[in-house]
Amino acid sequence: MELEPHLTKIFIDNEYVDCRNDKTISVYNPATRELVSDKIPVGGQEDINAAVKAALKACEHGSPWQSMTGQDRQKILLKFADILEANQEYLAKLTRLTLGAPYRPFGKSEIDTAIGCFRYYAGWTDKYAGQSFPADDGFYKIVRNEPLGVVAGIIPWNGPIASVGLKAAPALATGNVFILKPSEKTPLAAAALGKLIIEAGFPPGVFQVVTGDGTTGALLASNMQVAKVSFTGSIATGKAVQVMATKSNMKRVTLELGGKSPAVVFDDADLENAVKWTVNALTTNSGQICFAATRVYVQAGIYDKFIEAYVEGFKNKMKMMGNPDDANSEIGPVVDKAQYDRIMNIICTAQDDREGTLLAGGSSLDSEKGYYIQPTVFCNTRPDAPIYKDEIFGPVAVINKFESERDVVRRSNDSRYGLMAGVFTQDINRALRVSSRFDSGVVGINCISHIHFSCPFGGTKESGLGREMGEHALRAYTEPKTVLINMNY
Ligand code: NAD
Repeated sequence: MELEPHLTKIFIDNEYVDCRNDKTISVYNPATRELVSDKIPVGGQEDINAAVKAALKACEHGSPWQSMTGQDRQKILLKFADILEANQEYLAKLTRLTLGAPYRPFGKSEIDTAIGCFRYYAGWTDKYAGQSFPADDGFYKIVRNEPLGVVAGIIPWNGPIASVGLKAAPALATGNVFILKPSEKTPLAAAALGKLIIEAGFPPGVFQVVTGDGTTGALLASNMQVAKVSFTGSIATGKAVQVMATKSNMKRVTLELGGKSPAVVFDDADLENAVKWTVNALTTNSGQICFAATRVYVQAGIYDKFIEAYVEGFKNKMKMMGNPDDANSEIGPVVDKAQYDRIMNIICTAQDDREGTLLAGGSSLDSEKGYYIQPTVFCNTRPDAPIYKDEIFGPVAVINKFESERDVVRRSNDSRYGLMAGVFTQDINRALRVSSRFDSGVVGINCISHIHFSCPFGGTKESGLGREMGEHALRAYTEPKTVLINMNY
């Protein structure tokens, strides 16, 4: 298929330009396995140098961006949010071409997240004022929240526009300049942003997009003039990014990494509600969501009933699996062949090695040509089994029985991850007690796999470092500077 020409260019200094690196990437439609484009540019050293040069110019003293009032910056961010909204179907379509997620529920909602972030952070442009302290020791003290400078955002393929909102909106609201490096698997919507960036009125060099693969990301993470890298992706790459950041110029790092989120369902839970949240959490975007509820623990008294309803829930969802372009589809394929092969291999190995009992799903769909995998559930899994312990990042859950609260909290926390957890019960005391004992960045009570841009989002343990969203993200994109005024001078 023929893509619009600007989608195979990089966006530097408010212009679509040819990539100077010869290397290109091919992207395929996971619903049909057809080639979408073999011309996706891979930004190389010269391209990153050009982007960083333009970014530094855009944030130097006296530049239009640097001398803009907070309210003027706010207008641009709000306008950008409006433009994203006006182009929502177009952007979702571009993403769908290589991600395969139907417009509803995921294709639209991931862009809603970005729109929400830009509107939310537009409100902060003139409110993150810093602090002052009295001259009780003879020094009046002012703490200024200063932008860091050039911020790089390296993002994954599963929420390509939501990730832009989470990173670019707080970075730009606090006066930084931003270079986006989208995932090599879903680069098209990000590539389209250039036109919207110009239309919103961002000055040149403030918001740039350089497509590429891990080599492009590494060039940014190790660049001596990039002041901060905000990374979302796998734990392995996140650790590599942190090493590069430290070894280069000790750039600041935010890491949003993987998860294996526990949902704990007590005997007294509203069964229908618990099933609704846990099923939706695993089927939205084919389970390719970092905070999907993939480890379900159910108390003995409700276990059989829950299993029956959970499997029924998946069967109903299966009826809505199909061509992502079809308005009736809710579940599409997984993102690509590599992801499909990896997930199917994990499912087959779990069966061969008796890691647990297959309860539902477990196969790919023969009826379609694309990379479709049935939502799959294993129960009674071995505690040391990879299917139980490791993030799969696909439509695969494990479900296990528990007896006591103490036991289930221990098992929930016995994981390298700590991104999201959920507790389902009608006992408010227990809900609050368990929520405080979960070692997790976000906890849902009678809900799970849900976040909001006004509240911090991020993980404990190996699920990440730092927080996105909410007021907390402002701290991640600013450096406090203390100014002391000698009052006795
Ligand atoms: P990935 O780590 O393979 O890639 C993420 C990004 O890093 C891509 O843009 C990639 O090009 C880039 N990259 C790869 N190698 C690099 C290197 N050496 N240096 C710098 N950049 C490099 O992850 P993925 O497969 O795109 O995404 C899936 C993972 O992301 C899952 O583990 C998932 O849990 C996680 N994720 C986390 C969150 C969160 O907010 N916590 C959100 C979405 C996805």
